[in-house]
Amino acid sequence: MNVNQQTPMASPYGQPQPGYGQPSYAPLGGGYPAPYAPYNGPASAYQHGAPPQGPARAPPTSAPPAVSSSQGYSQYSQGDIQNGPPPVAQPMQRPAVSQPYTPGAMNLSGPHPSYPQQYAVPPSMQQVTNQMTGMQIGPGPPPTPAGPGYAPPLTSQPPISAAYSVAAPPSYTQGPPPVSADPPQPPPHSEAGGPQPYYGGPPPPQQTFPPSFSSAGPPSQAPGQQQSFPSGPPPVPQSTYTGPPPPTAQTSFPPPPSSQASSFPPTAPPSTAPPAQYPGPMPPPGPPSQPPFQSGPPPQSQLPPTSMAQANHLPPGPPGAMQQPPPQSGMQGGYPPQQNGAFGQVRGPQPGYAGQYPGQPSYGGPAPAPAPAAPSQKRLDPDSIPSPIQVIEDDKAKTSEPFTTGVRGQAPPLVTTNFQVKDQGNASPRFVRCTAYNMPCTADMARQSQVPMAAVIKPLATLPPDETPPYIVDHGEGGPIRCNRCKAYMCPYMQFIEGGRRFQCGFCSCVTDVPPHYFQHLDHTGKRVDCYDRPELSAGSYEFLATVDYCKNNKLPQPPAYIFLIDVSYNAVKSGMVNIVCQELKTLLDYLPRENPDTDSVVRVGFITYNKVLHFYNVKSSLAQPQMLVVSDVSDMFLPLLDGFLVNVSESRVVIESLLEQIPEMFADTRETETVFGPVIQAGLEALKAADCAGKLFVFHTSLPIAEAPGKLKNREDKKLVGTDKEKSLFQPQVGFYGSLAKECVAQGCCVDLFLFPNQYVDVATLGVVPVSTGGSIYKYTYFQAQADCERFLNDLRRDVQKPMGFDAVMRVRTSTGIRATDFFGSFYMSNTTDVELAGLDCDKTVTVEFRHDDKLSEETGALMQCAVLYTSCSGQRRLRVHNMAVNCCFQLADLYRNCETDTIINYFSKYAYRSVLTTPTKTVRDTLVNQCAQILSCYRKNCASPSSAGQLILPECMKLLPVYLNCVLKSDMLLPGGDVSLDDRAYLRQLLSCMDVAESHLFFYPRLLPLVKLEGDSLPVAVRNSEERLSKGGVYLLETGLHLFLWVGANAQQELLLNIFGTPTFSQIDPNMTSLPILDNPFSQRLTEIVESFRAQRSRYMKLMVVKQEDKAELIFKHFLVEDKSGSGGASYVDFLCHMHKEIRQLLS
Ligand SMILES: [Zn+2]
Repeated sequence: MNVNQQTPMASPYGQPQPGYGQPSYAPLGGGYPAPYAPYNGPASAYQHGAPPQGPARAPPTSAPPAVSSSQGYSQYSQGDIQNGPPPVAQPMQRPAVSQPYTPGAMNLSGPHPSYPQQYAVPPSMQQVTNQMTGMQIGPGPPPTPAGPGYAPPLTSQPPISAAYSVAAPPSYTQGPPPVSADPPQPPPHSEAGGPQPYYGGPPPPQQTFPPSFSSAGPPSQAPGQQQSFPSGPPPVPQSTYTGPPPPTAQTSFPPPPSSQASSFPPTAPPSTAPPAQYPGPMPPPGPPSQPPFQSGPPPQSQLPPTSMAQANHLPPGPPGAMQQPPPQSGMQGGYPPQQNGAFGQVRGPQPGYAGQYPGQPSYGGPAPAPAPAAPSQKRLDPDSIPSPIQVIEDDKAKTSEPFTTGVRGQAPPLVTTNFQVKDQGNASPRFVRCTAYNMPCTADMARQSQVPMAAVIKPLATLPPDETPPYIVDHGEGGPIRCNRCKAYMCPYMQFIEGGRRFQCGFCSCVTDVPPHYFQHLDHTGKRVDCYDRPELSAGSYEFLATVDYCKNNKLPQPPAYIFLIDVSYNAVKSGMVNIVCQELKTLLDYLPRENPDTDSVVRVGFITYNKVLHFYNVKSSLAQPQMLVVSDVSDMFLPLLDGFLVNVSESRVVIESLLEQIPEMFADTRETETVFGPVIQAGLEALKAADCAGKLFVFHTSLPIAEAPGKLKNREDKKLVGTDKEKSLFQPQVGFYGSLAKECVAQGCCVDLFLFPNQYVDVATLGVVPVSTGGSIYKYTYFQAQADCERFLNDLRRDVQKPMGFDAVMRVRTSTGIRATDFFGSFYMSNTTDVELAGLDCDKTVTVEFRHDDKLSEETGALMQCAVLYTSCSGQRRLRVHNMAVNCCFQLADLYRNCETDTIINYFSKYAYRSVLTTPTKTVRDTLVNQCAQILSCYRKNCASPSSAGQLILPECMKLLPVYLNCVLKSDMLLPGGDVSLDDRAYLRQLLSCMDVAESHLFFYPRLLPLVKLEGDSLPVAVRNSEERLSKGGVYLLETGLHLFLWVGANAQQELLLNIFGTPTFSQIDPNMTSLPILDNPFSQRLTEIVESFRAQRSRYMKLMVVKQEDKAELIFKHFLVEDKSGSGGASYVDFLCHMHKEIRQLLS
């Protein structure tokens, strides 16, 4: 090891950095608003919205990115550099800041009003009836005409009203079944189908479901289709699933259905997909079809990811060349300027127009596969199958009052509905959502239904401003009151007995004495008289102040530290990343997390730069200039300085600013292209160890770490393995080094956030091990270009640095007798089977927990769960956050099916599947999902629905979207990648999904597509289904995926629309490379800007906007997100998948 002082600092580098234009940076910002104010987290504060204009945030201390500040730099003489570890100075002592906590502040007193149970799920179901034959794939007897198989009209569901609570569901027969939103018109005979008055207008009367299959032949014609559902072998034995078996309670599936079950989806993904018809979003390099996205001048700045996968997944261009958008191939000329051509009028927000759409996509262009078809004049009418949009709108319509959590087993409104929550004893759905709010009492029932029992928990979720954050409770020196046996924390489920002297645990039934200081009398109902004055007795969520017994080594924790580790190798400098990070940190450091906005943050900071060697910086406040210490022996990392490495920003501001000003200059001319990675994390970890605190490392990294050092990696990318049994190895780390390092990090409470700026394969699967195990996040900016990607990166960074978070956390989920938590999904580390260890836990992180029976549950007591998270706050206070949730239990399967939440089930299924790819071939994973879904639906059919013709597809009301959403999971880039999706993209998505909450996973799999017709008032237009058929050539649409935003412009978009949005009346003049919309002086433009901003504020990652002109090459990327259509990688369309699912169900039933 050697600490030397030579350095990059010596020579003056006066030249401006190539590759980085100031303009792109300067305009960014908008003021930083007070941290924590907005519901959406600090990020929302950045009104990037009005780009250029708004006053920039506090003037940066220095001029823009420019580099030439000669002064500060020259002073940085070598003389200042110390050699060898400096003398240890006084350790940074920072008083543990105590939070001003006022116990009396709760305003929970008084009886709580009770609200009607308006959310009880209506006991209804939706029937999709079809001719039996009609559903068959492959040759079969011609279906009879529409009449018979068709279920009787369903009554529509009355808008909101308590009446639903107990309605008898059992009558699920053919008779007029309850609910469902579609109108009961006679089934449309053909595609032209009857009008479907979805929503809008008077309440939907009733709906008829059946499909329009009226003619013979396979329902969906397309040849392609057959291909999708090959019949016959190869049946995949379910047993090949090596991961933990998916089934809920038990591991074995009922005898597998006959053969065909497993043959869907097409096994060979990309290869078999007919590339010709629908080139994947980005076909593999080579084919002529995709040139636009390839090489050459760097990708257009705004070409975004082709697939959900990447955020940017364009080929690199010559290093450093700041791209000029390649010439647009422009299809502009393709369309005559007609206003409302054959394709029509801008459709109103309602998607239900069956009649307007002929079965085929309305316009030419590269029609995607779904309709290759001549053969089928008659195919299943998309309007006759369950519509996600309708379900979403119906839920919004029936939600008018706040959701109160006092009633056990009540399913909350959907994640797509805006509603207010009042905590009356169970955790808010913002903290906990369950797959089922009525669990089966026995393991047998659970196994039979195959419905997963899981909870998606977001412990530190940020609440909207009109909802009260959890109260903080202090039980004094003795710490929180707990059950003697199971250690559950005091909560509303504890029953006080013997006049209040003891309490019986709701989880394990053990009786515990009430400590004298906590004693209180009971009222005539047996409740403590102070019940409503104490959050722990009346609320679902609250926090306890923890005592030293809850601290590591029985010592109160130090405030956490943030360490910034910046790659300064050639690519990092050339792309502009180094400069951007340094410039940004100058101001961002003033916004470190704090609990009281009026005080300075107590979080300390430190800085390291690296390539093949590491440079540590002494930024002690007493220094005139920062000092650099270089560690070139990276084989055994150590911290070359103690005093002066971690400092308080307000004290060392001048030195820090000087350092941030100089870093870009020092490495401006670097030739070093190799980097290390393991030693970088080790260095940060050592610094936290030395300071005896928890904290977070922000690593800004560019390349595969091939330099000689621990954790060195090699390029193992091998696309030939995709789709084979060996594919799984590509998602596993290539060396064990990072697993061990992660373990050490967790022990120290060292959370790692990784910002990647790769130009090629960097092995995200391996580099991500530490972030994923420590509760950290990974951000990826492929082919990063300062100009095009700066805004997205900076917004992500700002939010990441400011977001509320806890450190050195441990989460434990306790349950009442009968069930237990058996599996966990998310970014964390587990060294035993019960404790979820999180070096860091931020407000966006979610942990999904699966439960299984270990005994019978009781209808009377229901099932209880308590999630307790012990963590250190950003001010250094040790706390316990507790979330309680009680659900009902049932002996009737029908009750289970009436109280499920499909979005949460999909969240669980997708996490299960994405994790399974580590051990199981992706095809097997897909087959298992399909099979489990079929089991769930066939169990319902067999046990809950009244007898009916086998030709009918009957879906439970709560799960009628299960097929469409499941199909989206099956064809996602992780499970069925197109040729253009890289392994890094998939590894990245895999990690991203693992900690998504239900709202994020919903959007990720089923993006929101808004027609921009009239934007009036505060409400949003009603979304349309994700299918090309729903797009009008005369319209403009906004598509949100949670990771990207697209603005699709129809070739015949009305002039007025174009003028309002772009300020130009002609389609051809729209610049597809714009990354933000112009702010125009008209209400439409302003409202659109607001909408875009509000969408961004709701998401944990900044969504870059991409303008897509119809028929432009970039449209392929956009189409990738039209998830109801057949995908370029071979994924089935919704219609086809539903037919397939129906067949699977019938096989299980027969
Ligand atoms: Zn207990």
